[in-house]
Amino acid sequence: MLETLSNFYHGLNAVGRTTAITTPLLLLAVAVLLVLERKYPYRKGLPFFREGLFLDLFWYTLVQSYFLQILIFGFIIAPLARHFGAQFHWVSDWPVAAQVGFFVVTHDFYIYWFHRFQHNSAFFWRTHEAHHSGKQVDWLAGSRSHAVEIIINQTIEFAPIILLGANPIVVPIKALIDAVWGMYIHANVDVHSGKLQYVINGPEMHLWHHADHEEVYFANFSTKFAVWDWLFGTAYLPEGRKPVRWGLPYAFPKDYFLQHAFSVRRFDEAALAERSAWFRGYHGVRFRLLGWLGRRVPAARALQGWDVPDGAPETVARRPGNNPAPVAVTSAEPSRPVATPS
Ligand SMILES: [Zn+2]
Ligand SMILES: [Zn+2]
Repeated sequence: MLETLSNFYHGLNAVGRTTAITTPLLLLAVAVLLVLERKYPYRKGLPFFREGLFLDLFWYTLVQSYFLQILIFGFIIAPLARHFGAQFHWVSDWPVAAQVGFFVVTHDFYIYWFHRFQHNSAFFWRTHEAHHSGKQVDWLAGSRSHAVEIIINQTIEFAPIILLGANPIVVPIKALIDAVWGMYIHANVDVHSGKLQYVINGPEMHLWHHADHEEVYFANFSTKFAVWDWLFGTAYLPEGRKPVRWGLPYAFPKDYFLQHAFSVRRFDEAALAERSAWFRGYHGVRFRLLGWLGRRVPAARALQGWDVPDGAPETVARRPGNNPAPVAVTSAEPSRPVATPS
């Protein structure tokens, strides 16, 4: 058995061999985070089978990633590499660790600004709101990213690695770092990293970014290095407080395809169900089927998702992507206290 594994490993090329190491490391990171979430939860009582788990795992993590990898590497980066060929070898002579470090830092700096831009642009907010739509945030919640957001960000991430002549193994190494760090900042783990949170980003600041609180609609944009938020004046880290409302300040579809459709055109799911037989066919059947299953097998309710009462009032502040506040709350107290210590 060991010999077979060893033969398999040595038969792989460098990228394959690296992936054979990064994949078990990724699974190990998942296991560690799951244990930490159970042992030191940021929000107590958040179930493993939380709202949208199936959506994030099946549609976003497996299906979308699979097809977007083919699109990004096969149909965007490969033609670019063919066109520009071996013109740039800027980083080829560097040690692999330096190449990885360089691309991790520069891409993280880019992603800070693009993320900040997405929160301020009505158009690009549509490519990011899905990421904020979950009300129960955990290790897998970060995978929920609109396809356009992934295409833009991963092309800008991986094209330079290939075009600047990096060692090809930088791609799987960087993909592992992205995945583990991405899971970590969303993990429902009560981390207190002290001064480290000025540099290394973690759940302490990123879970606030997923809160529906007006003071963080335009804060905590960092992904890996929190230093960008502190440098550019967007850090938010209140002492001893946790969010009470989570997700988006407006209704958002729970289905993968409807989430993408909603980014192109706003619709009211209930009204659409009244009007369109096609919509009833698609949404109604799925909804009834999963509802029927959920009533018989309680754990299967996670497939459908459920409303999570957050027990807090609506906010009236300017919303990310300039989405208007619901009419009903505009006359209410203009500056309500947003959160209570928990
Ligand atoms: Zn965001
Ligand atoms: Zn996030």
